[in-house]
Amino acid sequence: MAETTRRAFVCGHPVAHSRSPVIHNYWLRQLGLAGSYEKIDVPPDEFGSFLRDFQRMGFVGGNVTLPHKAAAFALASETDEAARLIGAVNTLWVESGKIRGANTDAPGFLANLDDRAPQWRRARAATVLGAGGAARAVVYALKASGMETVRIVNRTAAKAAELAEGFAPGPIAREWNTLPSLLRETDLLVNATSLGMGTGSGPEIDLAAMPAHAVVADIVYIPLETPLLRNARARGLTTVDGLGMLLHQAVPGFARWFGKRPQVTEELRQLVIADLGAGK
Ligand code: NAP
Repeated sequence: MAETTRRAFVCGHPVAHSRSPVIHNYWLRQLGLAGSYEKIDVPPDEFGSFLRDFQRMGFVGGNVTLPHKAAAFALASETDEAARLIGAVNTLWVESGKIRGANTDAPGFLANLDDRAPQWRRARAATVLGAGGAARAVVYALKASGMETVRIVNRTAAKAAELAEGFAPGPIAREWNTLPSLLRETDLLVNATSLGMGTGSGPEIDLAAMPAHAVVADIVYIPLETPLLRNARARGLTTVDGLGMLLHQAVPGFARWFGKRPQVTEELRQLVIADLGAGK
């Protein structure tokens, strides 16, 4: 009997820049599965009808990217704990006729740290830069991992306070100008701002006070080595770039849609780096 060809999507607006098709189509080829993963540009006012129609269009589920993550959370019938606490869904699938949603950014972030710098598990104090959507996922992940101290520092202090409050008890908001002293007591520093992305620049963060065992992670992956990571590497600190988070967050969705759990390999990483370099 012919194997059913399963189809999954990534929807966003815009969506042309998404690297997710490179990742999922690589896994489909690797695992010899008949299936496809397609980019679909869905404007915000059409997202609700897209959610109602995607099964009729022949899709088993897909990824949701900006600006639809909060709408996907609001519209999915059931969501996982990460999605509920982060308030955003990036992975959709159908189960018992209902649209289910998950947030895989948080487990993807942790899986990447485990992969690239497993010693981070000994960290007791983390400092997170940023208070946007990605920072929410990082703070949730660190709290769920049992991190003793999580501090949030953001350019707009009120947003850091709001984020900390949303995850109380635990995370603490601190002012940007306290960073030099915070970093002295930071085992894990995570940049979850868009600082360092593309050619954009921003305030340089002085890492001089960080302990020698500290891990510095950036969730920005264009460029792969951000100014923060370059600075950390020059100081001999362990660095983790943001590309692995993108690769690892894709694993649970693929497993749901296509029925096999794929591996994040060096070959896949190099494939995506080449695609980023091509700048398509
Ligand atoms: P967002 O909701 O728009 O939040 C942006 C954050 O960056 C805010 O905290 C903002 O501070 C801060 N920021 C922007 N420019 C800054 C500057 N010049 N100086 C200091 N802070 C600045 O964006 P997001 O969705 O959280 O995404 C943040 C970054 O994470 C993006 O680069 C995105 O590509 C990346 N990301 C990566 C992955 C991955 O898989 N690796 C996943 C998700 C996101 P204010 O509040 O003061 O504006």
